[in-house]
Amino acid sequence: MAKYPPPEELIKINYSTPPTSWMDVPPEFKPGNFSYPAKPDILKYLNFPNPRVWSPMDDDWKLPENWKEIITEGFRERLDKYRSFKIFMDVCVRCGACADKCHFFIGGGDPKNMPVLRAELLRSIYRGDFTMAGKILGRLAGARKLETDVVKEWFLYFYQCTECRRCSLFCPYGIDTAEITMMARELLHLVGCNINWILEPVANCNRTGNHLGIQPHAFKDMVEFLCEDIETVTGVRIDPPLNRKGAEILFITPSGDIFADPGIYTFMGYLILFHYLDLDYTWSTYASEGGNFGLFTSDKMMKKLNGKMYHEAERLGVKWILGGECGHMWRVINQYMLTMNGPANFLQTPVSPITGTRFDAAAGTKMLHITEFTADLIKNNKLKLDPSRNANFKVTFHDSCNTARGMGILEEPRYILKNVVPEFYEMPDNTIREQTFCCGGGAGLNNEEFMETRLRGGLPRGNAVKYVRDTHGVNTLACMCAIDRATLPPLCDYWAPGVGVSGIHELVSNALVLDGEKKRTMDLRQNPLPGFEDEEEE
Ligand code: SF4
Ligand code: SF4
Repeated sequence: MAKYPPPEELIKINYSTPPTSWMDVPPEFKPGNFSYPAKPDILKYLNFPNPRVWSPMDDDWKLPENWKEIITEGFRERLDKYRSFKIFMDVCVRCGACADKCHFFIGGGDPKNMPVLRAELLRSIYRGDFTMAGKILGRLAGARKLETDVVKEWFLYFYQCTECRRCSLFCPYGIDTAEITMMARELLHLVGCNINWILEPVANCNRTGNHLGIQPHAFKDMVEFLCEDIETVTGVRIDPPLNRKGAEILFITPSGDIFADPGIYTFMGYLILFHYLDLDYTWSTYASEGGNFGLFTSDKMMKKLNGKMYHEAERLGVKWILGGECGHMWRVINQYMLTMNGPANFLQTPVSPITGTRFDAAAGTKMLHITEFTADLIKNNKLKLDPSRNANFKVTFHDSCNTARGMGILEEPRYILKNVVPEFYEMPDNTIREQTFCCGGGAGLNNEEFMETRLRGGLPRGNAVKYVRDTHGVNTLACMCAIDRATLPPLCDYWAPGVGVSGIHELVSNALVLDGEKKRTMDLRQNPLPGFEDEEEE
């Protein structure tokens, strides 16, 4: 963390009103405030326009010769196609209710990170090119001309928006700035201005079925490796089914969880739970990704990457899909799947084979969230749990922006946690549930080069974690999103040292008492369970 300013420096935020109009302030790129551009070979593979080597720090961005026409035409197409976009361009009354709700503004103080002003970056061009008042009155009507600095400004600020939708919660008109960001990113793609951290995972997912580019044999090896660790901890050997045709359920979770700490412990948690239930299910090494970076790219790419999960479900002949702990995967499923690829009528409405509960809310998508599934198991007394095994963890819960605001899953994760850990504490009310604060790295911004801005954007979340750490001794931040599991550890190390990050099903399976298990002395991380510390040392 040495290369970033220390927290006591970063917290010195200048919120004063700038002396000049925002239109007169040029974008300023500096290390830490932008993500690296997509590599030319990635753009070529995806058949995206204008592949080239360039840097946002360059004066010349090597835009296509006719870039103005391309963007103007792309703008027009999207205004015609999306009624919501047209409305969002027209109806903002600049009341300012959203202004202080964005974590990037709170943590950085840059007025262009106020949601209202972020949208104005696009709206000002809309007024200039598509409204009579803007064409006649120009700047007086809040309009401006499309210049290269505008493209640069869009790239800077629409890749400083995590599409978290916190601002939209407070807007009396329901303007969804995240969707404005999505439109701006689509326009930027048209002239080849995009970031590698999004498009390389998209290319990988297009090729191998997951963001990390894991091939089927490697996926199988990784699962087996985790099963060996499970056997070390529990004494129980698990042999999970892969690509099994005719299984009742297809399980899909983000690939990030098979790859890195601490996500792997959540992955092990699923394996243990499904073994305990003797569930008739299968993993797929082809639909090996629940996440969908297409959401951060374009509607076409989102649709394509979402479609592969349903194609695989059809190929395997399952009845329904169970989805793991992911954030944006569920935003895609709940907000877009039905109009893009649904309804998935070749599948059946999910019914838990263990409890018989029918989940009618998933009747369209045929896809059930793992926390709904597990909460139902606990409610029906189907799990033998020993929460004392999690007594070393004093837990709080971070609502993923996507599952909380995009889907409304608020109670299930809390219900599960309260049943599997002895001590659970909430962060302050205005930082949780629908009002949750972003991890600072969503929407494809969880890369290293963007870390300083992530830490700034993570200030509100980090501050709330610090509060429960200092007030209740909380040492664990549970979450149900793979991106959160990747972004929150450095955030906690920076703003609330001493707090670790865990998935929900890691804690479930620590507590789950398996038939035939050996005397459990370790948790899934192979740290001693409470009361077994001395045994480990011997
Ligand atoms: S809250 Fe809505 S209407 Fe008010 S400034 Fe923000 S986007 Fe505009
Ligand atoms: S969607 Fe989130 S990141 Fe984007 S402007 Fe709104 S609050 Fe900020």
